[in-house]
Amino acid sequence: MNNQPLLIYNTLSRQKELFRPLHEGRVGMYVCGPTVYGDAHLGHARPAITFDLLFRYLLHLGYKVRYVRNITDVGHLEHDADEGEDKIAKKARLEELEPMEVAQYYTNRFHEAMAALNCLPPSIEPHATGHIIEQQQLVQQILDNGYAYESNGSIYFDVEKYDHDHRYGILSGRSLENIKDASRELAGVGEKRNQADFALWKKAQPEHIMRWPSPWSDGFPGWHCECTAMGRKYLGEEFDIHGGGMDLVFPHHECEIAQAVASQGHPMVHYWMHNNMITIGGQKMGKSYNNFITLPEFFAGTHEKLTQAYAPMTIRFFILQAHYRSTVDFGNEALQAAEKGLARLMDGWKLLQRLQDGQKTKGAPQVEVQYVATLSQQCYDAMNDDLNSPQVISALFDACRVINTVNDKKASITSEVAQALRELFHTFAFDILGLTENAGTSNKAREEAFGHVVDMLLEQRSQAKAEKNWALSDKIRDDLAALGFEVKDTKDGYSWSLNV
Ligand code: ZN
Repeated sequence: MNNQPLLIYNTLSRQKELFRPLHEGRVGMYVCGPTVYGDAHLGHARPAITFDLLFRYLLHLGYKVRYVRNITDVGHLEHDADEGEDKIAKKARLEELEPMEVAQYYTNRFHEAMAALNCLPPSIEPHATGHIIEQQQLVQQILDNGYAYESNGSIYFDVEKYDHDHRYGILSGRSLENIKDASRELAGVGEKRNQADFALWKKAQPEHIMRWPSPWSDGFPGWHCECTAMGRKYLGEEFDIHGGGMDLVFPHHECEIAQAVASQGHPMVHYWMHNNMITIGGQKMGKSYNNFITLPEFFAGTHEKLTQAYAPMTIRFFILQAHYRSTVDFGNEALQAAEKGLARLMDGWKLLQRLQDGQKTKGAPQVEVQYVATLSQQCYDAMNDDLNSPQVISALFDACRVINTVNDKKASITSEVAQALRELFHTFAFDILGLTENAGTSNKAREEAFGHVVDMLLEQRSQAKAEKNWALSDKIRDDLAALGFEVKDTKDGYSWSLNV
C-alpha cells in the first residue's frame, strides 16, 4: 500500500481535501453512466476517462476499489424527467424495435468505444430497469418520512419541506428562491405543489411503453432515483466518491443528495467530484445543443466538422492533456497537436526500450539515478494534487528529452538507470494515464482495415494473373485459403469471404 497523501477537489466543500476512505484500504466509487438511446459523444468520453484515471490511480496506490457506473436504460429527458415521451421508447417506436433492443444496441456500442479508449470496465454496471424495486423502495421511504406527496398517481419530492428541514441546493450553491425564480417562466405547475418539486415516480400515459406496476400507478421512476437506489444497493448507505460531469451538479446530483437525506436521514456521499465540459466554439457539446460529434464519428472521421479520423488514443491523450476541472475546447488543430504529442511520447518509449543495456558515450555526462527519483516524485505530486494529468504528461516529455539526449550520444545512461526510467514511464504512461502503444482502434475500424489488407493481396493476385504469373497468383489464393479465406473468381474480378 502506497501512502501517498491524495488531495481531491470536493464540489460540496468547494476545496481540495485529503482523501480518507471510509474503510481502510477500500474505496467505493459511483459514476453516472450513459443514457443508451444514441452513440456516446466526446462529452461522454471526458467523465469516462477522468474517472478511469482516478480508478487506475487508486488501484495503483493499492486500494481495493468497487467502481459502479450505471446504464440509464429508461430514456428520460436530459434535464427534466417530468414531461414528454421516453427517448428510448420513441426510438424503439420509430424503428419498430423492442425498447430493450435499442438500449442493448447502444450499450454494446458504448462498451466498444470505452474499450477503444482503454477505459477499464467498472466493477458493477447496474441498469436502471433492473432496479425498479429498489427505486420504488426509495420512493416509499421518502413518502413515509413525509418528504414526498402523491398527485394523480405520480409522486413528487417536496422540495420546500425538505429545504425547511435540511437545505436544498448545498451542492450547486443555489437557494430555493433562486431555483424558483429560474423555473418561473416554465409551463404551469400542473400536478406539482411547487415548480421546484421533482418527480420520484411518474404515472405513465396510455401510449408510454416502458412502465411498471407500483402501489401508486403503472408508471416509471424519476431519473434521479436510479443513482441513489443503485449507489446505496452496491456501495452502502455511505460511500466515498460520487462522480460525473459538471452538468449533472444541478439538478441531478442535488436531487440525489436530497433523496438520500430524505430517505435515510443522512447523506450518502463523502466526496463529490465533477469533470468540466468539452466545448465546441465555446459552447457546451451535448445532445441538447445538437452540436455533438460521436465517438464512432471521431474514430472514422465521418463528421463534417472533422478534417480527418482520430485514433481513440489521440482522443484519450487530448482529454488528459487538460486538467479535468478545466474546460477543453474541441478543434481539429488541437486534436492534431495531441496526435503529434502522443507520437512523440511513444517514440521516446520506443527509444527507451532500445537502451536496455544502457548506453555509454565517452566524455558525455551521466543520467543520474537521482534524476529518475525526482521525476517520479514530480509525477506522484502531480497525481496527488487532484489528478493533475497535464503535469504528469509534461514530466514524461522531460523523460523523452533526456532519452533523446542519450540517443544523440550527448549523455550516458547505465542499464540500472535506464531500467528505472522504463519502470517510471510504464507506470505513469500506461498503468495510470492508461495510454497504449497502439492507437487503440474500435472493432469496426479494425475490421475495415483488415478487409482492406485482404483486398490489397487480391489486387496483387489479379495483377499476377494479368502477368500470367500463375505461381504467385496460386500462392496468394492458397495462403489465404489456409487462413480460412475463400476466394472466388467472378466475372469482374473476385470476391472473398472468411469462414472461420
Ligand atoms: Zn446519476
